[in-house]
Amino acid sequence: MRKNKHPVSRRHFLQAAGAVGSLAVLHPYSVFAKSNQAHLRIMETTDLHVHVYPYDYYGDKPIDNVGLARTASIIKSIRDEASNSLLIDNGDFLQGNPMGDYIAYEKGMSAGDIHPVIAAMNTLGFDATTLGNHEFNYGLDFLEASLAGADFPVVCANVAAGKLGATVGQDVLLPNVKPYVILDREVTDGDGNVHNIKVGLIGFVPQQILNWDRRWLEGNVETRDIVSAAQAWVPEVREAGADIVIALSHSGIEAGSFSEGMENASLHLAAVDGIDGILTGHHHLVFPSAKYADLPGIDAEKGTLFDKPAVMAGFWGSHMGLMDLLVEKDGDQWQVVSFETEARPIFERVERTNVPLVDSQQAVLDSVKDDHEATLAYIRRAVGKTAAPLHSYFALVADDPSVQIVSQAQIWYITDMMKGTEWEGLPVLSAAAPFKAGGRGGPEYYTDVPVGDVAIKNVSDLYLYPNTVRAVSINGAQVKEWLERSAGIFNQVSAGIADQPLINPEFPSYNFDVIDGVTYRIDLTQASKYNADGEMVNADASRIADLQYEGQAIDPAQQFIVATNNYRAGGGGNFPDINGEVTVFVGPDTNRDVIVRYIVSKGTINPKADSNWSFAKIVGASVTFDTGPQGKKYVNDVTAVKIESAGDGDEGFARYRFSLDG
Ligand code: MN
Ligand code: MG
Repeated sequence: MRKNKHPVSRRHFLQAAGAVGSLAVLHPYSVFAKSNQAHLRIMETTDLHVHVYPYDYYGDKPIDNVGLARTASIIKSIRDEASNSLLIDNGDFLQGNPMGDYIAYEKGMSAGDIHPVIAAMNTLGFDATTLGNHEFNYGLDFLEASLAGADFPVVCANVAAGKLGATVGQDVLLPNVKPYVILDREVTDGDGNVHNIKVGLIGFVPQQILNWDRRWLEGNVETRDIVSAAQAWVPEVREAGADIVIALSHSGIEAGSFSEGMENASLHLAAVDGIDGILTGHHHLVFPSAKYADLPGIDAEKGTLFDKPAVMAGFWGSHMGLMDLLVEKDGDQWQVVSFETEARPIFERVERTNVPLVDSQQAVLDSVKDDHEATLAYIRRAVGKTAAPLHSYFALVADDPSVQIVSQAQIWYITDMMKGTEWEGLPVLSAAAPFKAGGRGGPEYYTDVPVGDVAIKNVSDLYLYPNTVRAVSINGAQVKEWLERSAGIFNQVSAGIADQPLINPEFPSYNFDVIDGVTYRIDLTQASKYNADGEMVNADASRIADLQYEGQAIDPAQQFIVATNNYRAGGGGNFPDINGEVTVFVGPDTNRDVIVRYIVSKGTINPKADSNWSFAKIVGASVTFDTGPQGKKYVNDVTAVKIESAGDGDEGFARYRFSLDG
């Protein structure tokens, strides 16, 4: 691409500034465009996941790092910085927070209803969107009803309703979806003259939707590979008159070679002839950014994929993606002669807190106000019931309902996701750790939901982090090592000594994974095989005893699926062998969403712990541990060990004792 010179011209500057009538600092392309050139700015939001208000509905509190109402402030200033702009969303707008669940599970979409996120997008004058994988989460009827309210076109070229056509062009698409659109827009050039330009937009979604939303999609839609669909469609978009073509790729950026059907195909999509720029997403990351440094085909500083401009705008409205194009008219034809990309954040991290960089736009807040308020009522009222109390006071000393419910939901979900894959039929285990278990969080820092109603906001209490679900495939020997690593939370205990402190305070509770689906005992006379950082320090030690699957000693060679989260499966906590190489399923859903779906689908849950793990007997030994004083009411529910009071602990904690000589 040839370089453009920008001769400084006061006339151009004043003209451009006057054209937008504000004090905004104009982008150099707007300032310096020549008479046959125009600055076309493309703004991207992606992976909004229904986040319009800057509000955490799980925590029931305002936050500063999400929300289209905030991103909208950037939209306003960005429009002021450019003589011409388009506003495009890149998919995953319909699902992903309790407002989305409220509309889908409670309110529904009746004829004439406008989905709140669509209402907000209408308010901002979006020019187009594409479908993300999460658009399919609530089924095709819900999707159709939601898209019906959009004042802007929705493009997706690789999903066909029913069966695929004989050729790409013969695919019948979903209602309210077009493979591509050509937007007729006017642009003002460097001399203030107005020209017409035709901007082609074409959309793509990962084919993995067929697995992730099989229950809705099986038999109802078919998909094509992203790159093959682009190769077939883009020439038609050109022939239909598009001057430039932008791909709306709801797909991440993955370096390395192309493979048919790959989920994160944006890099290879960029290589398709006739595409001028790529809006990406799905990965919930930021591009350009150092995250993508030193990868072949990717320029993480300039923001290019195979030398074409690309951008990814984070997630939940965290960033506004900008693709600035300087287009030049050569005869009848416009072409891109220079470009820049950027992802502009709505907040910054200052000393571990999020500081907002922009205010919310009132008009956007107003457009969803009623549904926001209804969502607040929704998260505060019951969506299901629990037959056993959900608490974490004793999660470190006995099998625990707050961990059990997470594993129940994970096994339920992953068993379904394995259907139709090469792993179908393997036993599904689940790893989950207590997140709110006192410690540095203090004596109130526990999950505590009594028998009866469970509200959505309780789910954040059960699952603190917005992790996503993953599954690994490992053998019985690796299951044991996983548990050896977890068991490092306990101090070594000697026979014949009373009141030995049980818990190593340096070991975070989120690395104390309990694995459900197997049974085991933990022998604390042994040293821990791994230290708190996961380094092997006692190769011959073995704390995990009597590890059994279906009542038989586990076969070290037997293959298992273990449901977990992106943190653990990605190597978080440095668990032996647990990394991307054993990962067989990367779920699109958060563990919290899976728990909500599980509760909504079951109506009443029974998270009573199944006592699948316990401590091995140690003659004459007792141990002490601290927990929140509010846990007192549940002491007698713990049957695996007999807990008795040992007075006050430090800093407001209550101290308890139990014997290991049981
Ligand atoms: Mn997403
Ligand atoms: Mg259990």
